[in-house]
Amino acid sequence: MHTTAMTGIVVEEWKNYCVVDTAVGRFRATPLGALRKRFRRICVGDRVELRVTNSDTFEALVMTILPRRTYLPRPPMANLDLVVFVNTVREPAVSYETIDRFLLNAELHELVTVIVINKIDLFNKDDHETARELRATYERVGYTVLASSAQTGEGLDSILTECRGKISCVAGVSGVGKSSLLRRIFPDHEFRTRELSEKLERGVHTTTHTTLLRHDQGSYIADTPGFSFIDLPSIDTADLVACFPEINQTGTRCRF
Ligand code: GDP
Repeated sequence: MHTTAMTGIVVEEWKNYCVVDTAVGRFRATPLGALRKRFRRICVGDRVELRVTNSDTFEALVMTILPRRTYLPRPPMANLDLVVFVNTVREPAVSYETIDRFLLNAELHELVTVIVINKIDLFNKDDHETARELRATYERVGYTVLASSAQTGEGLDSILTECRGKISCVAGVSGVGKSSLLRRIFPDHEFRTRELSEKLERGVHTTTHTTLLRHDQGSYIADTPGFSFIDLPSIDTADLVACFPEINQTGTRCRF
């Protein structure tokens, strides 16, 4: 193994070190003291330059944090390429308003979103009709809409195809099946429950327990325990109308 600088991606971040995936393995990396003073905190998704200090034990120093393409504060995540936005039409029923709000905020944060309609195994005839309308509505404005069942595994391949080679996270209101989908995608990973994560957060004062889980072909999907919904700092409606004058003209009929 060489000891020159190499780049990697932060998959876990703890108080005094982070775990960095590189082409030659996974390192426990400590940020340079100077780096800690000069930069904001490292977070998962950051691309960093490492200098290996011990190639046998996979220890390294983080020399530089490369510029972030995107940044989400809660939970802290850098360089997200894709948000897998999970919804369903029953248990809980779909809310166009929630979807619109989320999509709009995601756009404003320059995040790319795919919409997933989960729990299709539960759908009756009416549910399928509702799902078809939902799909048509959002495909019309340019979104990719996929259907899935965390129960049967149907549609998982299409979700993973979207995630290939990217850093993704799963978002959506409580109960739509985010954890079930993640468990299905990463059957060997031990997921912590939300309650336990919240206890840990309070107990040890670490900032985040978000980890990036690596799927094959270089895909990373965030596990964000304690957050049922990624928190996009919301934009005031008045500001929105100012940003998008079309809304003013088309009024409430406009999806955006
Ligand atoms: P989360 O709050 O979004 O993480 O949702 P969970 O993954 O905890 O799922 C909420 C409930 O819906 C659980 O009882 C799951 O077993 C159930 N569930 C999730 N996905 C599916 C699915 O695709 N089909 C069916 N039938 N149930 C599902």
